[in-house]
Amino acid sequence: MARILITSALPYINGIKHLGNLAGSMLPADVYARFQRARGHEVLYVCATDEHGTPAELAAAAAGQDVRAYCDEQHALQRDVGAAFGLSWDWFGRSSSPENRALTQAFAEVLEDHGLIEERTDRMIYSIEDKRFLPDRYVEGTCPICSFRPARGDQCDNCGSLLDPIDLIEPYSAVSGSTDLEVRDTRHLYLLQTKLQDKIRAFIESRTDFPALTRSIAMKHLDEGLIDRGITRDLVWGVPVTRHGAPRPGFETKVFYVWFDAPIEYIAATQEWANTTGGDWERWWRVGSEDVRYVEFMGKDNVAFHTVSFPATLIGVNEKQEKDGTWVPANDAPWKMVDQLKSFNWLNWYGGKFSTSNRRGVFMDAALELLPADVWRWYLTANSPENADSAFTWEQFQNLVNKDLADVLGNFVNRILKFCETRFEGVVPEGGAPGPLEEALYADLSEKLAELTAQMEAIEVRKSVQALRAIWVLGNEYLTEAAPWTAFKTDKDRAAMIVRTGLNLVALYARLIGPFIPFTAKIVAEAVGETQATAWPSDDARAELNRLEPGRPVKAPEVLFRKIEDAQVAEWSERFGGSQ
Ligand SMILES: [Zn+2]
Repeated sequence: MARILITSALPYINGIKHLGNLAGSMLPADVYARFQRARGHEVLYVCATDEHGTPAELAAAAAGQDVRAYCDEQHALQRDVGAAFGLSWDWFGRSSSPENRALTQAFAEVLEDHGLIEERTDRMIYSIEDKRFLPDRYVEGTCPICSFRPARGDQCDNCGSLLDPIDLIEPYSAVSGSTDLEVRDTRHLYLLQTKLQDKIRAFIESRTDFPALTRSIAMKHLDEGLIDRGITRDLVWGVPVTRHGAPRPGFETKVFYVWFDAPIEYIAATQEWANTTGGDWERWWRVGSEDVRYVEFMGKDNVAFHTVSFPATLIGVNEKQEKDGTWVPANDAPWKMVDQLKSFNWLNWYGGKFSTSNRRGVFMDAALELLPADVWRWYLTANSPENADSAFTWEQFQNLVNKDLADVLGNFVNRILKFCETRFEGVVPEGGAPGPLEEALYADLSEKLAELTAQMEAIEVRKSVQALRAIWVLGNEYLTEAAPWTAFKTDKDRAAMIVRTGLNLVALYARLIGPFIPFTAKIVAEAVGETQATAWPSDDARAELNRLEPGRPVKAPEVLFRKIEDAQVAEWSERFGGSQ
């Protein structure tokens, strides 16, 4: 039995996420976690809401709420909708937890002790009316390059130039609209990533099985050269900055930058889990974590932070540099670093992006009002933005759901169970022996089972779906060719053999679909009298198709999947946006 630690990128706190967020991190992480649990491995899957930063402050203000109360409410919403989608987190934490505050402060202290943090003076825009420094994107004005207005302080949307907010012409606060701004000096902490550059590159090069997308993003940043990164901000909502366990002088109105504390929450969320459940967080992250395989899931926009910034934090905590330049271990129990980083491209909405303000695309809560979670889970896995961006369209969604789930899987399960009910009194029939058709099925299916397991292990999402579909097709072809309804008229033993094989296929399918469509898996398992959670099957199809004992009662479930009608597609296109 192996031990596998799984994290998916932390969803930001401001609002329910759209289906693209789900497809590119949380859902594939859940499929993988469920698969590895079914394989009998010890799995810990943690996620959390990312709660700090200016957007949370502004969203709370817009809602007329205290930021803590706002985050409490939004966290509960995201947790509940995730659970309704079947996301099987062992813990869904919060980056605003006491655990994360303590750990973030402790890491910063160690980094500074190791000579990897220093204080510098920045010149930033201060809004007198807002009584705050404004982060880059909260200063707007006229672009000094192309005269476009409003250009954001970090970048002009018109000409694409990267900007410094100080260079904007006639700047104003995006928070209040005030033009009463001035440039002030402010002190900030910098993480000296330049000192860690070679160590980070060596770390990335040691992870030879990172997917191409992950590697290319990491190497692009390393090849461009890392810069020292500001890790504090002039904000109230966040982790307070300390030194030697007390508020850091001059930093009383500053907090750590959200991108410094958010990845640390992976560890802190495990501490939250341990503090609540009595689990042992250290054996996942420190003492005893040597044999843990740590797998991260995320969209491509998060890869740089997880291949460069977060490793910089952990390397800097784990090791320190001697005067002669060599690095030595800094503690007896180094913190676990990522072993596999599965990254995803974008799921788009037709040709463009999902957008809340323009009413484009379906968000997680609205999706569940339309259809059961499994329908979405299947579509989003089958259409995973894995090796390229993919696009949601209602037409493709309808086609895929109707074909895969209704026509192939749902039809197979219902057809064989109904036949068993009418011809064999709803029990697994006895009699007959495997013939050439069954022998061929055993051989073909064994091969396909091995293929599916291999693709699941490799976290090849689309290839896993293809392998699973191929197994469904085998079952359908077998049933069509064996034709128990014909055999029943002339050779009842032969018909019993076929039906028994068909029912065993149903039981096998229940186990194979568990990671993808867990709610349906449970219904299908119960239909063939499998009440216990069942393990991932072996590659031995002969054994797997002779599991159900004759005499066991079975019962056809209600229709598993209703077909999506053209009228529904028309209605949903109107409501959520479509090709127009
Ligand atoms: Zn411009």
